[in-house]
Order: sequence, then structure tokens, then C-alpha cells
Amino acid sequence: MAKQPMLKFVQIERDMPQKRDASVRKEDFNEIYAEYAAAKAEEQASRCSQCGVPYCQSHCPLHNNIPDWLRLTATGRLEEAYEVSQSTNTFPEICGRICPQDRLCEGNCVIEQSGHGTVTIGSVEKYITDTAWENGWVKPAAPLAERSESVGIIGAGPGGLAAADMLRQAGIQVTVYDRYDRAGGLLMYGIPSFKLEKDVVERRNKLLADGGVTFKLNCNVGEDISFDEIRSQHDAVIIATGVYKSRDLAMPGSGSEGIVKAIDFLCASNKKSFGDAVEDFDNGSLNAQGKKVVVIGGGDTAMDCVRTSIRQGATSVKCLYRRDRANMPGSQRETQNAEEEGVVFEWLSAPKGFTDDGGKVAGVMVQKMRLGQPDASGRQAPEVIEGADYVEEADLVIKALGFEPEELPALWNQPELPVTRWGTIKAAFQTGATELDGVYAVGDIVRGASLVVWAIKDGRDCAEAIIGKFNSKAAVAAE
Ligand SMILES: Cc1cc2nc3c(=O)[nH]c(=O)nc-3n(C[C@H](O)[C@H](O)[C@H](O)COP(=O)(O)OP(=O)(O)OC[C@H]3O[C@@H](n4cnc5c(N)ncnc54)[C@H](O)[C@@H]3O)c2cc1C
Ligand code: SF4
Repeated sequence: MAKQPMLKFVQIERDMPQKRDASVRKEDFNEIYAEYAAAKAEEQASRCSQCGVPYCQSHCPLHNNIPDWLRLTATGRLEEAYEVSQSTNTFPEICGRICPQDRLCEGNCVIEQSGHGTVTIGSVEKYITDTAWENGWVKPAAPLAERSESVGIIGAGPGGLAAADMLRQAGIQVTVYDRYDRAGGLLMYGIPSFKLEKDVVERRNKLLADGGVTFKLNCNVGEDISFDEIRSQHDAVIIATGVYKSRDLAMPGSGSEGIVKAIDFLCASNKKSFGDAVEDFDNGSLNAQGKKVVVIGGGDTAMDCVRTSIRQGATSVKCLYRRDRANMPGSQRETQNAEEEGVVFEWLSAPKGFTDDGGKVAGVMVQKMRLGQPDASGRQAPEVIEGADYVEEADLVIKALGFEPEELPALWNQPELPVTRWGTIKAAFQTGATELDGVYAVGDIVRGASLVVWAIKDGRDCAEAIIGKFNSKAAVAAE
């Protein structure tokens, strides 16, 4: 009888790829996890219990066929594992690196629920596609026939690029417009390279260009070209512009020098890592070196800011969050990484103003909080503890309080572009179609600040809907 290659979770323990020691990794911006060796990837994949109803798959936004590619990896059939993996995910090696797996696939793994430790799904997914790149299995789009229809995509983040890839595979002409000088959106200029090295994004951008996607970079829609012009040049338009308006703090002293937005800080750091000249980094405004840094917020953006500050050489890094650790929105894994690297978390602490020294920020006035009764959403609301205020010294304060959409109807002079009361674009579920004919929207601009994997899902669904529509039109024309 053939040897059973799977269900090894009882004999084999969960083992993540090696994590570099905090004392070493905080000295550079390289990724913190190593790659599995082949034998280790096979071993870890073999722990999967091949459930009849795989909860990992149903909790992956892309419904990746996880048990299938784990079995193929465990049995050494890596090229087939890659084929299965890439059939549902445009950027598997990116998701393998940065999905919050503890809240998605891995958090719902059945062997995790039974106390054996989840299968390391994300790390195996990354291993499969990194190996595919090394072996030349990842190929640019090569459509069977070119089609005449064209789609303009505004925004080169994961949502726009996932749509671009599928449309090009179908032979459709695709132009991607982006106001940044490099494609990738937040993959390139938001997420730091210790989570996602930039050559991983750049090789994807090149693959898309090699497959025939046209990129128009440094092109701010609404300034360099109008939305109407783009609409008139293409048979369909996808809006994939993300959300970039930073939530602010209106309190005493909030205008002082040295209080900056998270996105500006992270973008400057990423640009520096390319060797670009960044004036506000070079003049110290967006550089944490030698400073006492306080980051305000408890989400993933705040985690990225504290860990970037450590790597830039801050003398101390503190994170203020108004709820406790159990109630923070950021990933627990990232919080632990930050703590290992020397970040101090001040839980149940909220700013009420800033002190300054000659216009430069000198401290954050902090009020201590406790968690009160749950509100309508079920979350315990933070309440101020009277008389417990103190001042936290700071010479750089980074506000990481979340993002909201820009006012696209006004910016683009498109009053009829339908938006929700939060300013996100109103688009149909699973197609991204808006009420404007031929105009679609995907990713954060529809969902609000979300995740890369959801943007990919939206981009793929939208491309499928557009291809279907073009096919129907072509069939009618042929009749
Ligand atoms: C700091 C940070 C860390 C994050 N970490 C993670 C993580 O670890 N894991 C995870 O899953 N998610 C993470 N996210 C969320 C994730 O990055 C987003 O959900 C995802 O990138 C959204 O994709 P998108 O394509 O909708 O938009 P974006 O990635 O924001 O891309 C939008 C693109 O549109 C362009 N654009 C906007 N307006 C215009 C215009 N007028 N003209 C031309 N171009 C325009 C922008 O330049 C940008 O390139 C993080 C977000 C931030 C801010
Ligand atoms: S895409 Fe994300 S959620 Fe889906 S299997 Fe990969 S890591 Fe898990």
C-alpha cells in the first residue's frame, strides 16, 4: 500500500521558516523570515489533514485550493502546486508574505482548532511561488489572440494590477495610470520592505509590462489627465485608487513641527531604500534617526511605523493605543515582532494634546483610559481615567489613525460618480460595476482601508465581469 503522505500533524510540529534574531534584523530593512528549504516545505505541507470541508479555504478571500497545493508540495510536485496556487491568486508569494494569516486561512485551520498548531499555509504559499520564479515557471501573459477592446485602470496597486493581469491574459488592451513613479501602490510605498522586499513587487511589475500592460506613471488623474479623457479613450475604466486621506487629530498643539502622517513617513522610507533623493527625509523631517518617537494608533500601519523607526535608529520608540492589547486592530504577530525589536507599547493611552518647544513638538499629553461597557458594535468603549494624565516626551510623533477616501467626485469633476456616506465608491458586489456605464471600482476605494488579498479578489472579479460583458457585446455584434 502506498505510504500516506499527509496528516502528519501528530508526529510533526508546526515550524515556521527561521526568523532572524531581533538584534540582527533591526539593523536592516530586509525581510525577517528566511525561505523554507525544500525538505522543510514538504514536511510542513504534509501536516495538512486534508479536511473534507477545508475551513482554511473558505476563510481565504480568494478561496485558494489550499489542501490541494499542500498535498502537491508534500509529494514534491511543485510545478503542479504552483499551477494550482496561481490559478486563484495573482500574487501568491505576496499574500504568503503579508496576509494576516492568523485572522484568515491559518486562524481557521482545523488542526489549529484541535490544538496541534496550524499548517504554515502562508509560508508554504510563498515558498511555492518563489520557487516557481527561480525555475522560470512564472511567465508573462501570452494571449491566444489580441482583442480590440481596451480598459483604462486608474491605480497600480494590487487591485488594479490583479485586474490588469486577467484582462491581458484574455488579450484585452490595458493601460494602467498611476500618480506614483513606480507601480505597486501600497505594496511599493506603504508596506515596509522588512515585510515585503521590493524586488518581489518589481518583478511582478516587469512581468505585467512584458505581458503587454502599458503603464503611464507620474500621471495624476484629475491633474495630468481628466477622468473624462480616460473614459473616452477606453471601452471600460476601473477605479482602483485606494484610500489616502489620513485621519487627523484636532487638539492643542497638533500643528507643531515634528508631527507627521504615517503614509508620508513610510513612503519617504521606502523611497530612500530605492536610493531616491527625498528632501523631507534628508532634512530630518521624516527621519527617526536619533529621535524619541511616539506613534499614535494600534493598527498595522502603526506597527509598520514603529518598526521602521527602530530601523532608522530612533533612540526610543513608543506606541500609544487607547484600547488594550486584546482589542487592538493590528496583527498580534506584528505586535510581537515589534516588541522583540524594542518597541514599548503604552496600552490604554490616548493623546489629548501636544507640548512644544519653539514650535517643535516636545511631548504628547497622554490621558490614561479604561475599557467601559460594550457599545452598539460590541466593542468596549475606552473611558478616560481622571487625574492620570502625563506627558510622554517626543521629538517625532507619527499619526497612524487610519485612512479615508479622497473626494473623487469633486477632485475629478464627476458629481454623478456614486459614493457612499463614507466617501467610498458605490460598486456592485462581485463585479465592481458602478452606476456609470463602463465604470468599475475595486479594492480599498470600495471597501475602505482593507487588505491586499481583498483588493486582488476584487480586481480578479471585476476583470471577469468586464471580459464577460465584452464577450456578450462581441456575440451580439457577430449576430
Ligand atoms: C502602511 C500600510 C501597511 C499595510 N500592511 C498590510 C499588510 O501587511 N497586509 C495586507 O494585506 N494589507 C496591508 N495594508 C493594506 C493594503 O496595502 C491595501 O488594502 C491594498 O494595498 C489596497 O489595494 P488597492 O489596489 O485598492 O490600493 P493601493 O494599494 O492604495 O493602490 C492605489 C494606487 O492608486 C494610485 N492613485 C490614487 N489616486 C490616483 C490618481 N488620482 N491618479 C492616479 N493614480 C492614483 C496610488 O498612487 C496607488 O498606487 C497596509 C496598508 C498600509 C497603509
Ligand atoms: S491568500 Fe492569504 S488568506 Fe489566502 S491562503 Fe494565501 S495567505 Fe492565506
